[in-house]
Amino acid sequence: MVFNEHTMQERLPSATYKSLLKTMKQGEPLEIEVANVVAHAMKEWAIEKGATHFTHWFQPLSGITSEKHDSFLDPVSDGRAIMSFSGKELISGESDASSFPSGGLRATFEARGYTAWDPTSYAFVKDEVLCIPTAFCSYTGEALDKKTPLLRSMSAIEEQANRVLALFGWEPQRVVPTVGAEQEYFLISEKDYAKRQDLVMCGRTLFGYAPCKGQELEEHYFGAIRPTVNEFMKELDDELWALGVPARTKHNEVAPAQHELAPIFTNANRGVDENLLTMEKMRLLASHYGLVCLLHEKPFEGINGSGKHNNWSLSASKNLFDPGESPMDNLRFLVFLTAVIQAVDDYQELLRMSVASAGNDHRLGADEAPPAIVSIFLGDELDAIVDALVDDHEYESAEKVAMDLGVDVLPNFLKDNTDRNRTSPFAFTGNKFEFRMPGSNVNLSDANMILNTAVAKSFKDFADAMEGKEGDEFETATIAYIRKTLKAHRRIIFNGNGYAEEWEREAERRGLANHRTTADALPCFVDPKSIALFEGLGVLSEAEVRSRYEVKLEKYNKLLNIEARTMKRMVRRAYLPAINDYAAEVARGITAVRAAAADAEVGQQEALLHKLLAGVKEIDAQLQALDAAHHAALGLPDQQQRANKYAHEIVPIMEKLRAAVDEMEVVTDRDHWPVPTYNDMLFYV
Ligand code: ADP
Ligand code: MG
Repeated sequence: MVFNEHTMQERLPSATYKSLLKTMKQGEPLEIEVANVVAHAMKEWAIEKGATHFTHWFQPLSGITSEKHDSFLDPVSDGRAIMSFSGKELISGESDASSFPSGGLRATFEARGYTAWDPTSYAFVKDEVLCIPTAFCSYTGEALDKKTPLLRSMSAIEEQANRVLALFGWEPQRVVPTVGAEQEYFLISEKDYAKRQDLVMCGRTLFGYAPCKGQELEEHYFGAIRPTVNEFMKELDDELWALGVPARTKHNEVAPAQHELAPIFTNANRGVDENLLTMEKMRLLASHYGLVCLLHEKPFEGINGSGKHNNWSLSASKNLFDPGESPMDNLRFLVFLTAVIQAVDDYQELLRMSVASAGNDHRLGADEAPPAIVSIFLGDELDAIVDALVDDHEYESAEKVAMDLGVDVLPNFLKDNTDRNRTSPFAFTGNKFEFRMPGSNVNLSDANMILNTAVAKSFKDFADAMEGKEGDEFETATIAYIRKTLKAHRRIIFNGNGYAEEWEREAERRGLANHRTTADALPCFVDPKSIALFEGLGVLSEAEVRSRYEVKLEKYNKLLNIEARTMKRMVRRAYLPAINDYAAEVARGITAVRAAAADAEVGQQEALLHKLLAGVKEIDAQLQALDAAHHAALGLPDQQQRANKYAHEIVPIMEKLRAAVDEMEVVTDRDHWPVPTYNDMLFYV
């Protein structure tokens, strides 16, 4: 169902195919005559695949995908209609965009934005609609989407990487960041889901006592997949393969009811598109099996949340993070590695910011996820090499392979660096980096846009310093540059246990940032240092940066507002009535027993009654506190101030309110409890 190169070659006249390839591979503009031919072929192909409509498929700043379906139908004068689709319609579309978030970039009077085809991402047919992946901009040229800056960052890193490669004698070539996103998710029964307003409204449980068993038996991870889930996974694979998404690995994850899907990696922009399609299909197909797919980062307290590991590398004629065979290639590898270390240290706060969300705040720093502190894991071998370089002593590997720093061959076993540190937020895994902070729900465009831009900046610094040097002089200067840079950024390297408490203290000593909440993490986006980075490499203008920051802040505040409202409503309308009902029943029981036998022992019943009433009192107190703080927050006109209030004042009250309700869950009669419990939801058949 994908209009890929194979199909293009089959369907397009060869001259058209060639000029389209030039657009795709070399970024040359697409002529309208060519677009007309492509559009016609695409339409014919799509109709054969059952399509009746087309859409420009794009990612507004909300992060999800948007589509508006237009039919190919075109009435002709004799009362019939033909199916038409022009080059103009393929290349660009207009969108009344007034309801998409723009962070103030686009005043409503000039509400229209336009969408422009990204020919490097293939068109595809989904549910009888020809989907054309596009970028989304305002008429004044500002990006209003997630894709445009990602594409710009890909150009930036390509340009700067080529400058570095040229110093090593490489021909100019295509350099693309590659991305493979491992997607975690939960599946629970639709029946349970429908009974919980918190899941329906917020995607996570706002209440719920821990289940009798959690994940301690380690029976779920890689366990046999239950038949219903297996059927779901098969259909998911089929649909994804048809859409060109190379889903590869599927398995049960650590938490009960948690699963994972990993695809084969591809170009960053396509990798992000594919991940969005994967999430969409997961959500939609689950209903075929009486299931609901939860993509929230932390749907259940006390058991693992869901992440989305962003595997990232740079691909040219070969993988640029593959330690090479020859001494010169080793040196190049070290330059590339150093560039990433520098980038991650310099822009650690931006990376943290790129994955900040209300949901991920509950995951980062919780037991099973990396902390909110960014650090890099290199593995023992590379770590020893870095030490040797920085401290200027001879490198001796575990196998006693002596290495003359950078100019000898790196030991081969680096390539299968399988020593996986699972607790590191940013791990080198042999020939790629794995960024593990993103939550399961996030659109990976921001994280990759920032990674690409920050690494491009490191490359630029290196190329600026080295251009003009050749031969031995270049080699000596390069080694000195690597040494100096590693020395300056060594603090970001951490090979220990990222989940340990000591690491937080150690990280603080090293001066690493630790932004625990979204409210704390977002402001760095608009720091002069960040704006200089994005403007310097042509990825985002200052106005674009500011608008994105606004949109993120607003989204956080809106989500917290929804959570606070849902919480209050559930307490008032479901939990308090249920607990009070049960307390009244216990009270009636005591009276009845006493009436029947005046000397009966009712100590347990009375204690329970007091416990229930005390619980109700505590719940009510926290409810009042939440209500007051929530109203105060809504009265704050400044979005950052409001976010701070949610993060530091309201979330802690919500936790107390939750704890008070959860305490009552385990003493209230099962039949009175108004919602399915963790025991019910996580261990369905
Ligand atoms: P894990 O041990 O973390 O589960 P897997 O091998 O299952 O690792 O998944 C690794 C992911 O990394 C896959 O999606 C894979 O396609 C991706 N990947 C592998 N090589 C690269 C690369 N060069 N660039 C980007 N992603 C890659
Ligand atoms: Mg992984």
